[in-house]
Amino acid sequence: MPDYAQIRQELEGISLEDNPALVRQKSRDFYWYSPILKEELDNVTADLVVSPKTEEEVIRALKVAFAHGVPVTPRGAGTGNYGQAMPLSGGIVLNLINMNRVKEIHPGRVIAEPGVVIAELDRQTKAHSGQELRFHPSTAQTATIGGFVAGGSGGVGSIHWGGLRDLGNILRLRVVTMEAEPRVLDLTAWDLQKVTHAYGTNGIIVEVEMPLAPAYDWVDVLVGYDDFMDAVRFGDAIAHKNGILVKEIAPIAAPIPHDYFPRHKPFIRHRGQSICVLMVAPHSMDAFTAFTERQKGEILFRSDKVESMKGIPHAYELAWNHTTLRALKVDPNFTYLQVQYPGPDHVAKVGKMVKLFGDEVPGHLEFIRFDGRMQCSGLPLVRYTTRERLEEIIKIHQDNGCPIFNPHRYTLEEGGMKQTDVVQLAFKKETDPKGLLNPGKMIAWDNPDFDFSAGKNYLFPGLAAAG
Ligand code: FAD
Repeated sequence: MPDYAQIRQELEGISLEDNPALVRQKSRDFYWYSPILKEELDNVTADLVVSPKTEEEVIRALKVAFAHGVPVTPRGAGTGNYGQAMPLSGGIVLNLINMNRVKEIHPGRVIAEPGVVIAELDRQTKAHSGQELRFHPSTAQTATIGGFVAGGSGGVGSIHWGGLRDLGNILRLRVVTMEAEPRVLDLTAWDLQKVTHAYGTNGIIVEVEMPLAPAYDWVDVLVGYDDFMDAVRFGDAIAHKNGILVKEIAPIAAPIPHDYFPRHKPFIRHRGQSICVLMVAPHSMDAFTAFTERQKGEILFRSDKVESMKGIPHAYELAWNHTTLRALKVDPNFTYLQVQYPGPDHVAKVGKMVKLFGDEVPGHLEFIRFDGRMQCSGLPLVRYTTRERLEEIIKIHQDNGCPIFNPHRYTLEEGGMKQTDVVQLAFKKETDPKGLLNPGKMIAWDNPDFDFSAGKNYLFPGLAAAG
């Protein structure tokens, strides 16, 4: 057991927290979306929360942790869904929320500290020069930009710009390594792959440089259809209209809007109505409404026409993983999946899954630009019964050419491509030789011989000790 009294002494001057209840609180994220992760990770907690305010304090904290062999798990706002920010081996949670300065804003780019909340970042760039981030997660009001880069994938705006994995959607990251003498590295272009979506296993991000797009007062719109597949076809058609500028297109199946969107329920005509949630640029509204009319869609709601938006959430807070959150608030028996429907027959694939599962898996899609082509990903709800049935639903999707990015796993590999990311593994060897950063999240580090084809999920040996 590390000598925490000594560690606290060596970290004097940096904000520390060791009250067990508060430490436990900062050791959680939204892992409970998954009944499986809830069971596996419920006991996880750190020993100490360290909240640096500057790059120098991060360097000091990592130096001390390295010397004592203490694991360090970085944390932004803890809104990740797969236990990403949960310290599976205990140790230190490095809470970066106080590193929250927007440092510089230029035409087309912003430089900021990692802990700035995304909506605040957008507020400052908009006020400064009418610019905003190209895309953001639906948790923009709470999540940090560093947490997004390290743990997220895409979001509102991905219809236009794709995701974080696309070269050019992150310009530069400054990271501190976990070594006896921590180094500070500035990474650009292909090198960014070493730390983006690595769950903080490869260095602590202390500065981000992100590209910006022109900001608009986006109009929130709900378009209604009596058949979910009509809403899907409408979403697909709008996604392919070159001249209509949209930031979000999310078809959502009945009865989700009626049953789980209480503030928008007055605008939904009946329980069987499916919707398409959109954000449209104000100058595109005339073209948008004309096109919607031709597609026989019914505009149920537009934020520029309601008397007051008081109490009505942003449209994007109905979409992405907020759809799941809203359903879970009413019915805790829901969980969800992350599905890809590779094109060009993505609409047909969605139709097949809707037919196969019906109301057991109510549909929710997000249209995104994927390698230059319009496609849809899904975050369908699942009425959870057993683990076995969930695995069966996953298998049926995969057997029908719809890959699943499994949100019921806490490792990078199992949640993603189910194979070792050799670039990230090589970089970890260089920057975290003792394997102290967010242990248990990279199978390739812990168990290079793990057989992904055997159909078993990986259980991190340190997890039992942390409980
Ligand atoms: P955290 O959860 O605190 O951390 C995420 C990961 O990054 C962890 O592994 C952590 O260790 C690591 N990390 C954090 N800061 C640093 C740092 N400075 N250096 C190195 N590693 C670091 N995600 C999307 O991509 N798109 C969405 O639209 C979306 N919608 C969501 C909706 C809901 C309701 C919920 C609950 C989640 C959603 N998410 C989404 C997941 C999550 O909210 C986002 O990815 C978010 O950006 C994470 O930011 P955070 O500050 O909460 O990060």
